[in-house]
Amino acid sequence: MGRFVPLVASLGLLLPFSTNANPLDKRAALDTCLSTAGVPVFASGSGDYTQALKPFNLRLTFKPAAYAVPQNIKQVQDAVACGATNGIQVTAKSGGHSYGSHGLGGEDGHLIVDMRNFKDVVVDQTAKTAIIGTGGRLGDVATALYKQGKQAIAHGTCPGVGVGGLTLHGGYGLISRSKGLTLDNIIEATVVLANSTVVTASATENPDLFWALRGAGAAFGIVTNFKFKTFTAPESNIVFNYYVSPGSAQALSQIINAMQDFTMKSQPPELNMRLFLSSFTTFSGVYYGSRSDFDKIMQPLLQKMGLGNPGGSVSTNGWLNTLTSFSNGALEQAKVYDTHETFFSKSLMPEYLNPKAVDALSQYWNNNARNNQRQWYLLFDAHGGANSAISSVAGDATSYAHRNATFKMQFYDRVASGNYDSSWFPFLNGWVKAISDASPGVNFGMYINYADSSLSKADAHSHYWLKNYDRLVQVKDLYDPKKTFEGPQLVGS
Ligand SMILES: Cc1cc2nc3c(=O)[nH]c(=O)nc-3n(C[C@H](O)[C@H](O)[C@H](O)COP(=O)(O)OP(=O)(O)OC[C@H]3O[C@@H](n4cnc5c(N)ncnc54)[C@H](O)[C@@H]3O)c2cc1C
Repeated sequence: MGRFVPLVASLGLLLPFSTNANPLDKRAALDTCLSTAGVPVFASGSGDYTQALKPFNLRLTFKPAAYAVPQNIKQVQDAVACGATNGIQVTAKSGGHSYGSHGLGGEDGHLIVDMRNFKDVVVDQTAKTAIIGTGGRLGDVATALYKQGKQAIAHGTCPGVGVGGLTLHGGYGLISRSKGLTLDNIIEATVVLANSTVVTASATENPDLFWALRGAGAAFGIVTNFKFKTFTAPESNIVFNYYVSPGSAQALSQIINAMQDFTMKSQPPELNMRLFLSSFTTFSGVYYGSRSDFDKIMQPLLQKMGLGNPGGSVSTNGWLNTLTSFSNGALEQAKVYDTHETFFSKSLMPEYLNPKAVDALSQYWNNNARNNQRQWYLLFDAHGGANSAISSVAGDATSYAHRNATFKMQFYDRVASGNYDSSWFPFLNGWVKAISDASPGVNFGMYINYADSSLSKADAHSHYWLKNYDRLVQVKDLYDPKKTFEGPQLVGS
C-alpha cells in the first residue's frame, strides 16, 4: 500500500483559525480549502445536501460545517487535511444508519466525509476474499458478492445499513454464530489517518490500529475499504418464524429463561434465533442444516419455552432469499436512500440475566409496554453462548468488548409520524433501569451500533467498550492526538 502526500498540506493551506471558535464560523475557510483541493461537496442548501442531511433517525438532525463527497482516496486525504488544519472535527459517513446520527457527527459543526462513492465489491474467488468499499450498503454488497462465485460475508439484516459503520463497531447478523461478527472477518483495512496519510491496518501492519478499528473505528480514521474473508453462501437454509403470544409476565419469563439457558449451554453454531417482543411477538431465525435436524433441536426448545406447537412458517431458502426474509424489502437499494424512522433506542448486552432481572423485565413489559400504543419493540438476538463463533474470540483480541454477551437486546420506541416527545424517554430508560436494579454489581455492556443518545460520555465509554476502553485511549493518542475524529460518544471524546 502506497502513501500519498496530502495535497492541501503541500499547498500550505494551514489556516490560522483558533480551534476554540464556533466550527460553523469556519465554514467559509473550510469551503475554500475543499474547493482549492478539488474535493467534491454538496453545497449547503442544494437538493443533494438537504437529502444527505436526513439521517435514518429523524429525531437527531445536525448541521455540518461542510459536506464532502470524495471520489477517490486522495480526495479523502485532502478533506481530512482541510478539517484538521481548520480545527474542524471530521466524521466519516457510510450508510447514515447510526441510531445517534453519528454519521453526521452526532452534533453540529463537523466536516462530513460521505463515502457513498466507495462501494466497489471485488471478489477473489480463489483466495475467497473480497475488497469492499465502506460506502456500500449491505443489500447491494450481499448481491454483488453472490454474483461473484456465490460468495458471502457475515453481516447485519437491514439492507440499507452501510458497511463502514456496521463493520467498524460490530456487525451481528443471522449467520454470526458460525461466522462471527462482520469485524471478525476483516483481513485488512485501508485507512486515512488524522495526519491525512493513508495506511494499511492488519495483523502485521499497524496492528494496534487494526485492534482499535475492530470495535471503535470511527475515532481512528476514515476507512476507505476492507479486505474480508468470504465463504461460499449456504443454499438450503431453514428459515422459521413462529407467532408467539405470551399471556402474562410469567409466560414471558419462561420464554426468556428457556432461551437463555439453551443459548448459553447448547445452541448449535448453525442456529441463529431472535425473539421480537412488540404489540405482536415472533420467535424467528435461521438454521443452516437439514429440516430433520432442525426439528430435533427446535421441538424440545419450544416445549421448554412453553410454546407447544406455535403457528407460523418454516421454509427452506437459498442464500439471497434467506437474507430477504429478514430485510423488510428488496436487497438492492435505490441510488438515493430515503428510508427513515423517528425513534429512541437503548441496548443491553447481558452475559446472564438472573431470574430476578428476567422477572423485572417481564413485569415491566406487562405493566408498562403492553398498553403502550407507540410502535415499540424489544429484540433479543441469541448470538452468544458456548458454541458461538463470536464468543470464541478472546475479549481483548479486538476492541469489540461484548464477546461474552448471550443476548444482544435492543429496546426501540418509535412514532409513525411527527416528533418523538421528550416525555416518552422514561419508557425505555425505565425498562433498562428495572433490569439493572435487579442485577446488583453488573455493568451491562451496550452496543454503540445501537447508540443511545441519552448516555453521558463517561457512561458511553464504560458501557460500549468495558475493559478495553483504557487501551483504546492509548491507541487514540498515537493515531489521532489532536482529536480530529471526534463525536459525543466516541473514544477520547
Ligand atoms: C434499520 C437498521 C437495521 C440494523 N440492523 C443491524 C444488524 O442487523 N446488525 C447490527 O450489528 N447492526 C444493525 N444496525 C445498526 C448498524 O450496524 C449501525 O447503525 C451502524 O453504525 C450503521 O452504519 P452506517 O455506516 O450505516 O452508519 P453511519 O451513520 O454512516 O456511521 C456510523 C458510525 O460509523 C462511522 N463510520 C462510518 N463509516 C466509516 C468509515 N468509512 N470510516 C470510519 N468511520 C466510519 C461514523 O462516523 C459513525 O460514527 C441496524 C441499524 C438500522 C438503522
